[in-house]
Amino acid sequence: MEGAVRNLVAKRVLNCMCGAFSDKWFDVSQRCGKAAEALQVPWGSPIRAEQIDARLATGRFDALTVIHNETSTGVMSPLAEIAALKAKYPDVMFIVDCVSSLTAVKVEFDALGIDVVLAGTQKAFALPPGLTVFTCSPAARAKAATAPDRGYYFDFTEFEKNAEQHMTPSTPSIGHVYALASKLEDIFAEGLEARFARHQQLAEATRAWAAGHGFTRFPDAGFESRTLTCVNNGAKPGGRVIDVPKFQKLVKDRGFLIDGGYGKIKGTTFRISNMGDETAATMQTLYAAMDEALRAL
Ligand SMILES: *Cc1c(COP(=O)(O)O)cnc(C)c1O
Repeated sequence: MEGAVRNLVAKRVLNCMCGAFSDKWFDVSQRCGKAAEALQVPWGSPIRAEQIDARLATGRFDALTVIHNETSTGVMSPLAEIAALKAKYPDVMFIVDCVSSLTAVKVEFDALGIDVVLAGTQKAFALPPGLTVFTCSPAARAKAATAPDRGYYFDFTEFEKNAEQHMTPSTPSIGHVYALASKLEDIFAEGLEARFARHQQLAEATRAWAAGHGFTRFPDAGFESRTLTCVNNGAKPGGRVIDVPKFQKLVKDRGFLIDGGYGKIKGTTFRISNMGDETAATMQTLYAAMDEALRAL
């Protein structure tokens, strides 16, 4: 996130914000000394192309940041709709965080025509935390080469030069690289389309579990994540409301960790992940534990 900003923002960056991680990117931009502007929508809502279009039309920006799947709110913004703007603003760098979507949801980097996709591998890849993967367009690499203050450790041109020699600018966490190689074998053995379909099915099953227990969803309808479900628990009107910390404890007693809501929606939402290696069978055991916990509340 910091590297993309340091390499690609010369004029002003538009940080599209709809939750804790995308909000953080605005802070990151400012701390990197960049002129940054916030496009803030309420938590639970997605970022829409027309909102970006209205800002980019001012001509003030040479980059924008978007989070594809905002993990804190369970909202997936429509990436294809947003990426289509690139044709209208070819000189603006489109930087996209796919931390909790990459490998679980199709992200066609070349076809979308965007400039950077990045992902920490501890979410949808289901690897231990400690490694980030990214790719960038030829235009992004060319622009990075002109950036005066891109530093050393996040310098895209250093990464490119080193990658040509199968190297990295500094010593990486080699254990993670082996883990990634192994995980990629698993991913391609499953097949990408099958993996995408599995995530879609498990997200739908989790939404059905929530609805079946009287809960509503926190994200705006039609923009729900396919890798996690953010259950509404009083953050928005409607639906059932429970004591989330007590529920979490009862679920934990049965061997599962679920999240009790992130940041300012802690307790008024809770989140159930289906990303990575989860299967219909593993999710069924979680639903059963949550059923028991609800009865014990
Ligand atoms: C978790 C997450 C991050 C931040 O990852 P850290 O490794 O904790 O900095 C960024 N973006 C998204 C969408 C995330 O889910």
